[in-house]
This record gives sequence, C-alpha cells and structure tokens, in this order.
Amino acid sequence: MDLLVRGCNQLGIVLSEKQIGQFSLYFDLLAEWNQKMNLTAIDDLAGVQTKHFLDSLVGLPLIQEEMGEGKATPQWAIDVGSGAGFPGLPLKIACPDMKLVLLDGTGKKVRFLEEVVAALKLSQVEVVQGRAEEVGHNERYRGKFDLVVARAVARLNTLVEYLIPFARQGGFVVTYKGPGAAEEFMEARKAIDLLGGEVARFAPVQVPLLEEERRILLIKKQRRTPAQYPRGQGLPRKSPLG
Ligand code: SAM
Repeated sequence: MDLLVRGCNQLGIVLSEKQIGQFSLYFDLLAEWNQKMNLTAIDDLAGVQTKHFLDSLVGLPLIQEEMGEGKATPQWAIDVGSGAGFPGLPLKIACPDMKLVLLDGTGKKVRFLEEVVAALKLSQVEVVQGRAEEVGHNERYRGKFDLVVARAVARLNTLVEYLIPFARQGGFVVTYKGPGAAEEFMEARKAIDLLGGEVARFAPVQVPLLEEERRILLIKKQRRTPAQYPRGQGLPRKSPLG
C-alpha cells in the first residue's frame, strides 16, 4: 500500500498499521470478486490505490474543513450508489468512528459490500439495497445525515435530487466530479436551491499521484427538502429539475 500511504501523506491523512491492513484486505477482496463479476474496470494494485482509494479520500480534508473548526468528523454519513464501496468505504476506514450507510440498487454490489464490511471488521456500517428515489422517502434515512457523498452515479442535476433529501439541515452533500463539472454545475443550480441546498464550495482538487483534475462540490443543506422530492418513476434521470 505504498502509493496509498504516500498519497495520504500529501493529503495530511495519517493511517495506522491497522488501517493500512484494512485497505490491503479490501484490495484483495476487490481483485478476487472482480474475477467472478464485473465490479470495477480498475482492479490492479496501483490503480486501486490511486483511482479508487486516494480519489475517495481526496474530499476528506475539504469536508473536515467545511464541517467545523479543526478536524471535525461527520457522525453519520451515507454513500449513495456506492458500487464497490467508493467513496464511502475508504472514508470509513480513515474515520473509524463515523457511522455509515452504503446504498446501492444492485444486489451483487450489495453482497460484495457486506462481505468487505465483515472481513474488515468495520463496525457501525449498514449496507442497504435500494434506489435512492425510494430510500430517500424512508423516515429512517430522510433528513438524517451529516454527510451525503456520491461518485460517478448520475449527472449533477439528477444527482442532487437523489442526495439532498438525505441530508439533515446543516449537513453537507459532497459530489466527486470530473473536468466537465462546471457545465453540470450551471445546469443544477436551480435544483440545488429548490431542494433546500446552498453551494458552500466548488473546488478543484488534485488527486495525489494522478494527473486528472477533480472537482468537489460541497452543498450545505439549509432548508427542509419539499416532500415530493425525490420523484419516483425514474423522473430525476428522465426529466431533471431545473
Ligand atoms: N460510486 C461508485 C464508484 O465511484 O466507483 C460506483 C459508481 S457506478 C458507475 C454507479 C453505481 O450507482 C452503480 O453501482 C449503480 O447500481 C448505482 N446507482 C445508480 N443509480 C442509483 C439509484 N438511483 N439508487 C441507488 N443506486 C444507484
């Protein structure tokens, strides 16, 4: 895990031996399961350390800065459309005290996530199979989270309708986006407002050891999301707000 450790140093994240061991076991399981089913296009050791682990962790310093004085850690987070666990699981390994929900619509991804959580002996992680459009109306999860994250799930004007309903007032929604993010951001501004959010940061970040540019959008939830959102029947994707 040399690349991971070097990259974390650049991000100001210190990992213990136990945490490095958890990342290493996570890599082993990802590579093993990926031979049987298509979880991710990237499963080589260097690629997983940079394009999955470090890319997931790159948002953490910004999140902690925005959440409060010093290094505040969110207490309850949800990763929507987590897939093989990104960015949620690397954030959980780096912040072991954080409670986490991993949500995905696909059964095989959910079974992989359950296996990783058990093998890494991660506590206070709940894996949920379901669609964001439905789970976002469940009182157990709606309006509850300090932090809502997603990477590579949908275009921003669709994604904010999935994510903002989960955040508590005063909580943060954080999306990991690529270089096309500025255009997506313009399209999504009205929707962010309508759903009760306010843009706190839209920051370019450099993933350690990678050339690619990343844009992290941080939205602060200021007001309650109107009850009709997220809409059902695939509408957030077919007919985005805005
Ligand atoms: N976030 C992971 C990553 O960055 O590697 C996975 C990205 S993958 C391209 C998108 C994932 O989002 C898939 O696992 C898919 O099942 C899930 N997904 C897409 N739309 C969803 C929805 N509306 N509700 C729940 N999961 C969804």
